[in-house]
Amino acid sequence: MEKDIQEVLLTEAQIRERIRQLGEVLTEEYADKNPVIVGVMKGVVIFYADMIRHIKVPCQMDFMWISSYEGTNSTGSMIVKRDVSADIKGRHVVILEDIFDTGNSLQFVYNHLMEKEPASLEICTLLDKPSRRNPAVTLKPKYVGFQVPNAFVVGYGLDYNEYYRNMPYIGVLRPEVYEK
Ligand code: 5GP
Ligand code: MG
Repeated sequence: MEKDIQEVLLTEAQIRERIRQLGEVLTEEYADKNPVIVGVMKGVVIFYADMIRHIKVPCQMDFMWISSYEGTNSTGSMIVKRDVSADIKGRHVVILEDIFDTGNSLQFVYNHLMEKEPASLEICTLLDKPSRRNPAVTLKPKYVGFQVPNAFVVGYGLDYNEYYRNMPYIGVLRPEVYEK
């Protein structure tokens, strides 16, 4: 795997420290709120497992699985493959996601969960790639781990063709890998 990585963007230590900091913020803001923490599969799994242990308040774990139709990026083309199992009406909900890129997927997830009338709904994304934002997406993640440059990154849950998710750090994939 390592030979396919052009540059290490975020080391394990950097990720660990940032998650600890985010955990402190969420622990404070969600004290007594009994939140439901919703992870968007599958990219989020590694981040989720680390993050949840730093949110030191009583909370429920839940997951969603969405998918988009091939060859398009628009929000309208996404479907819920697996919905949350908790009844989130009147609950404080935090969406955990791996990366906020165009914003299309999170906008879709956000709209979908808002229909269930949560008491509050916020987004916590490990990575934010603002350069690629769809101008139609007005949503802003409240909690962001790191801003990343406009490059295709893998590792720590993020994949290319389902591989590299198990790399413990985040790196930029060599363009030759996906251009060949
Ligand atoms: P968005 O809908 O915000 O454009 O993208 C969201 C999804 O696209 C992410 O959840 C992730 O699965 C994928 N994605 C966007 N940028 C990257 C990237 O740099 N690397 C990887 N591995 N996936 C990405
Ligand atoms: Mg994803």
